[in-house]
Amino acid sequence: MSDLTSLDAAELAARIHSRELSSVDVTKAHLDRIAEVDGEYHAYLHVAGDRALAAAEDVDRSIAAGDAPASALAGVPLALKDVFTTTDMPTTCGSKILEGWVSPYDATVSAKLRAAGIPILGKTNMDEFAMGSSTENSAYGPTKNPWDTTRIPGGSGGGSAAALASHQAPLAIGTDTGGSIRQPAAVTATVGTKPTYGTVSRFGLVACASSLDQGGPCGRTVLDTALLHEVIAGYDPRDSTSLDVAVPPVVAAAREGARGNLAGVKVGVVKELHSDSYQSGVISSFDAAVAVLTELGAEVVEVSCPHFEYALAAYYLILPSEVSSNLARFDAMRYGMRVDDGNMSAEQVMAATRAAGFGPEVKRRIMIGTYALSSGYYDAYYGQALKVRTLIARDFDKAYEQADVLISPTSPFTPWKLGEKVDDPLAMYLSDLCTLPTNLAGHCAMSVPSGLSKDDGLPVGLQIMAPALADDRLYRVGAAYEAARGPVQ
Ligand code: GLN
Repeated sequence: MSDLTSLDAAELAARIHSRELSSVDVTKAHLDRIAEVDGEYHAYLHVAGDRALAAAEDVDRSIAAGDAPASALAGVPLALKDVFTTTDMPTTCGSKILEGWVSPYDATVSAKLRAAGIPILGKTNMDEFAMGSSTENSAYGPTKNPWDTTRIPGGSGGGSAAALASHQAPLAIGTDTGGSIRQPAAVTATVGTKPTYGTVSRFGLVACASSLDQGGPCGRTVLDTALLHEVIAGYDPRDSTSLDVAVPPVVAAAREGARGNLAGVKVGVVKELHSDSYQSGVISSFDAAVAVLTELGAEVVEVSCPHFEYALAAYYLILPSEVSSNLARFDAMRYGMRVDDGNMSAEQVMAATRAAGFGPEVKRRIMIGTYALSSGYYDAYYGQALKVRTLIARDFDKAYEQADVLISPTSPFTPWKLGEKVDDPLAMYLSDLCTLPTNLAGHCAMSVPSGLSKDDGLPVGLQIMAPALADDRLYRVGAAYEAARGPVQ
């Protein structure tokens, strides 16, 4: 690993902006690293070396001309999850049905990255249409966890997390519908935030479940993640659920947190997300994190969220229902793949294309969702799930009367072996137990590394949750914890 790929994004940005380093050299170093190691990890689906270098050259030129950098991260390259549209690279969402498809427009997130002078190294691997917890549902083969290549890197954003953990990018973008930023962060010892719903534009983010999906920043440190958060967040009139509010001051909060004082901060441990059924190494790492937060001056209290026990069931009705509707657009007429022997009716072409183009998990969810929305079952399944969603939001509201942030393990497990859960969807879904209440409520949450499990030496994540639009609290507590915890290895 060259020095340039070992540095954090904040450090790289400072050196690029002071002209001690060039963005071209930093970008090249990462492209070399990708060429060297990605054959082993498969974090990327597409690499756009020439485009990234051209963007880096632009940044170097403008800094040399004395212009102010376009953003705090100008010149620092990044890996983008392959679910955001880009005009200069394919957008596949990890699916065969979109193989080779190039969007005619950039997602708002992609456009913001370009405007911020951030070279996009490439697009990262993911579970098909962001459905999964291991990246094994990618039609292009799984990504491997850099900590142990026989294990999963989490999902659906395993490619972005693995790119960070293997130093193939200093920054990455993910999406989180039920945990797809936080769980991969946890199992790769990286940092990831699911911002408050409505604060990062979904325009050009290929929809999985629209009421839950949210793009977010990933990094190796809390500060890097905060810097990226501020680049991508903000109101967008092209997203009908975008919030026209100020972006919470997450960078200032991360800097404040790094000073290591949490006096006056109330931290709630969610009783229902602390269970003997979790791996014991996960629980002991979590308990150690609680002790660290207490030492930092936080007041730790226990809170109860009784309806969280129904979150998984509600999520796995709401998400498939939205998926069944959103994925109807892949009809062989408009995007990507088309199976047609020349003698087929339009209906047969659609059926054959969808049968060949979608993988088994996507088909399973489309069928469950279609069933849950069908007349006669709608109230019993989808309607009930929406009621549970409201009760979960109320649990959160009550808990936040007692605490400023809530904490739990990010995932009940450390990364498991590739292949271990592919035939058991329910076992796979259980890894989302702690993350998905936040999505159902539309709130924000972060995963920050909390060391290695005493059972198997593999990464464990601490989840920090906060109410809607209080994303800065995540960064304050996360940065304080990170500084006190010290390096993971
Ligand atoms: N693992 C969860 C699922 O399979 C979360 C997915 C996500 O956040 N995109 O639905």
